[in-house]
Amino acid sequence: AKRETRGGAVVFGERHEQEISKVRALEHALHTAELDREIYVLLQPQFDVLLDRTIGFEVLARWRSPVVGEVSPAEFIPLAERLGLISRITRTVLRKALTLSAQMPKSIRLSVNLSAHDLNSAQAIEDIVAIVTEAGKPCRIDFEITETAVMRDIGQANEALVALLALGSRISLDDFGTGHSSLTHVQKLPLDRIKIDRSFVSDAPHDPTSRAIVKTMLDLCRNLGIGCVFEGIETEQQLDTLLGLGGSVMQGYLFGRPMPPDAAIRSLQAEHAR
Ligand code: C2E
Ligand code: CA
Ligand code: CA
Ligand code: CA
Repeated sequence: AKRETRGGAVVFGERHEQEISKVRALEHALHTAELDREIYVLLQPQFDVLLDRTIGFEVLARWRSPVVGEVSPAEFIPLAERLGLISRITRTVLRKALTLSAQMPKSIRLSVNLSAHDLNSAQAIEDIVAIVTEAGKPCRIDFEITETAVMRDIGQANEALVALLALGSRISLDDFGTGHSSLTHVQKLPLDRIKIDRSFVSDAPHDPTSRAIVKTMLDLCRNLGIGCVFEGIETEQQLDTLLGLGGSVMQGYLFGRPMPPDAAIRSLQAEHAR
């Protein structure tokens, strides 16, 4: 038994080392990445059911490295944050979004995700403002921020948002209802809409408590005059439940998976022709 335990420990040690060297390889690949070429974006539609049209797309980053291959955002975004590279990625994604936005109808908005570091750095925001300004107005790029990012320093976050609003951008509070949600953020920040997290969407059809919370969040939005987007709609049943509660703007696999920009542009054309 003792030998087995020792054997197990050795195996564990090897696995652990493999994990570490995998992380090191990822770190090195990201440090040396040619971001403009290796980072690409997918677009996921945001559909307004009452208007019966696509109103915009969320811009989602992807990383394909020639060294370590395709890496999911769940892996490389936190890594980039840790390595201090996230703002470079934000700028890369933003430039690509601006190029795509110019190829889309004027009614379409593109939403870019900001990280906590972007929101808490005056320099990062200055860089973002410069990139958008250089592309020329009017700006049809919006930004998504999280509550965790806001919480680090509400004063700085507020200044950042004011600068972004001045560009003509709208601000969404992402993943609403998860983590340290606080209604004061919704009240104190210049927000245009909140995005209700997928967990509420998936629970709503079978869980009365979730439905009550969703109803309350929709009332809150209505009373404050801000928009509300539901994330992660996968089934007709979820959609029916949310429409029944008064929701209208939906994002999720049921409406469209994150897709390459050319497919997104084609889907807009098909929608327009129908
Ligand atoms: P997020 O901002 O909450 O983005 C929504 C995530 O939900 C995306 O995952 C999207 O593909 C996924 N999703 C959309 N509809 C459905 C659905 O119906 N069902 C399910 N199960 N999932 C759905 P993705 O693309 O893997 O991105 C994961 C996270 O990585 C994002 O979560 C965001 O926090 C981060 N991320 C992605 N791109 C960027 C970026 O450019 N900058 C920053 N800072 N973060 C990014
Ligand atoms: Ca988002
Ligand atoms: Ca989200
Ligand atoms: Ca999320």
